[in-house]
Amino acid sequence: MTRYRAPLLDLKFLLNDVLDLDARLRELGRDDISPEFIETVLEEGARFAQDRFAPLNRPGDEIGVTWDDGEVTTPPGFREAYQAYCDNGWSSMSAPPEFGGQGLPVSLAGPFHEMVAAGNLSLRCYLSLTEGAVAAIAAHADDSLKQTYLEKMVAGHWSGTMCLTEPHAGTDLGMLRTRAERAGDGSYRITGNKIFITSGEHDLSENIIHLVLAKLPDGPAGARGISLFLVPKFLPDTDGGPGERNGVRCESVEHKMGMRASATAALNFDGATGWIVGPEHQGLACMFTMMNGARYDVGMQSLGLAQQAFQHAVSYANERLQSRSLSGAKVPDQPADPIMVHPDVRRMLLTQKALVEGGRWLAARASLLIDAERLLPDGAERERAARLLALHTPIVKAFLSDMALEVTSLAIQVHGGHGYIRETGVEQFYRDARILAIWEGTNGVQAQDLVRRKLLGDGGEAFDALIERLRVEADESSGAAELADFRSTTLGLLAEWSALGREVMEAAARDPEEIGATAHDFLHYSALVLLANGWLQMAAAATRRLAEGKDRDFCESKLAAAGFFFDRLLPRAAAHRAALVSGASNLMKPTPEQFLFT
Ligand SMILES: Cc1cc2nc3c(=O)[nH]c(=O)nc-3n(C[C@H](O)[C@H](O)[C@H](O)COP(=O)(O)OP(=O)(O)OC[C@H]3O[C@@H](n4cnc5c(N)ncnc54)[C@H](O)[C@@H]3O)c2cc1C
Repeated sequence: MTRYRAPLLDLKFLLNDVLDLDARLRELGRDDISPEFIETVLEEGARFAQDRFAPLNRPGDEIGVTWDDGEVTTPPGFREAYQAYCDNGWSSMSAPPEFGGQGLPVSLAGPFHEMVAAGNLSLRCYLSLTEGAVAAIAAHADDSLKQTYLEKMVAGHWSGTMCLTEPHAGTDLGMLRTRAERAGDGSYRITGNKIFITSGEHDLSENIIHLVLAKLPDGPAGARGISLFLVPKFLPDTDGGPGERNGVRCESVEHKMGMRASATAALNFDGATGWIVGPEHQGLACMFTMMNGARYDVGMQSLGLAQQAFQHAVSYANERLQSRSLSGAKVPDQPADPIMVHPDVRRMLLTQKALVEGGRWLAARASLLIDAERLLPDGAERERAARLLALHTPIVKAFLSDMALEVTSLAIQVHGGHGYIRETGVEQFYRDARILAIWEGTNGVQAQDLVRRKLLGDGGEAFDALIERLRVEADESSGAAELADFRSTTLGLLAEWSALGREVMEAAARDPEEIGATAHDFLHYSALVLLANGWLQMAAAATRRLAEGKDRDFCESKLAAAGFFFDRLLPRAAAHRAALVSGASNLMKPTPEQFLFT
């Protein structure tokens, strides 16, 4: 099994040479964050992920979590690693300073979150949901809730969850049945069953703070009648510490194909005491603060697993000896050549590299928009950043999680039969990655969100603004003459994407089924066009560094991966375009009875 090495060179190249993070942060008024500080965070973060999280990944998968009479025990070492994460200040990285957070930009926290997710995704999930819950409470709760809960959550003493799903209500939250009743003293009593709750019960923190969606008796029907409640496992005592046990109990934990060290709990709320977060009946909108952050974080989780799988595949391809190269022996003193010599193995490895490193650019771009939305001084500019970010969020979540599945599956393929066997470790990445396309809103739902809410929602205004911005960026990369082909391909695709967006909007106006019928392919097409921009920018930065005589091997590898992306992966966009313009009828014509004959 290959030891995880954080992709520090790639991250530094991306943040410094491609995105000029230092300058971007100064534009956002964060000139207190120096390039040296960025470097220290990346290096310390890498060390932490490699030394504290990664060694627990495999044993965590082997041992899993155990449930006993409502209590959940995490695998050995998890408590100490969780504590070290909090003690070293990682849990407070991007939390608000008024509650003990460091208020660091997401563009800096994001790469760290990729590294810890790569090291141990199950363990990371106990922490990521707390960060999301902190954001939702900080944005929507009243001052007294913020004072009681946030500092402890930011410090990691108390952890958070997100309780949406019920047995009969997954995607369609309008159907949820958990009910809330006003207790008359400002608190509420929550009753119902939630399933699949990540970190719903565990032994890592003193208290668990559930953010629960429930319906008040007088709320409107459907999703508009949902409210959001904060329901602690232990009610705070008069000193603010964990006091009396609340009426919430973990009935069981799920046995899963992956993420076996992450506790996925079935929770019963039996008249549990809770407090409202945000206005009554507007809980879904408040929960979106948490969900949008979580969707971006799924992008980081996807990158982490994909990077791990890619690293394992490259090491194995260099070690495994099988057959001779088609053009004659490359290592004649060995009984066979390493499989790295075979074009098909290189196809798999370069697909992994181009998707992971291109995906990292996409995620970093989204993180800069998150920072811009939070930090820009001008309200209109913040609003513009928010609308651009809204277009990126479903693409980051869905494309990167589908990408992680492809990359982790390719890692198994590169290992041949040994990849299917547990010892090599790559099958765990694939099993763990499988959930990423499902949770935080399935990828099908993300695609519909992109088309319905983000594209049709404003008649394509933000979409046009995004394309114009990318066109300017592509034009500005014109310094490197040798990249002319990449640039003209990218500019051509931007024009085609713009026209395709119009076609999708017109088709949706004719027939609402077209929204669902075009969504998957439109999202993947959009992601590939974005990645073309990313690879153009990365190739331009690599060319600049080469001209300065720096990092020859690294820069040549970037240019090779860019060429591979444009020649062999970008053509996938044409297939997505053909599928989406083919219309809804080829999907909607068969009756339910015509799907299967046995
Ligand atoms: C390991 C794990 C951890 C989880 N953690 C949490 C958590 O912490 N908190 C939480 O609340 N939930 C959590 N979930 C639940 C997860 O978010 C849901 O499983 C997911 O939202 C899908 O809901 P569902 O499983 O009921 O599928 P369904 O909603 O029944 O969907 C089934 C299929 O139908 C499709 N579909 C449904 N509706 C539509 C539509 N309108 N248009 C197009 N396609 C549609 C879906 O895309 C999917 O392919 C977790 C689940 C798992 C397995």
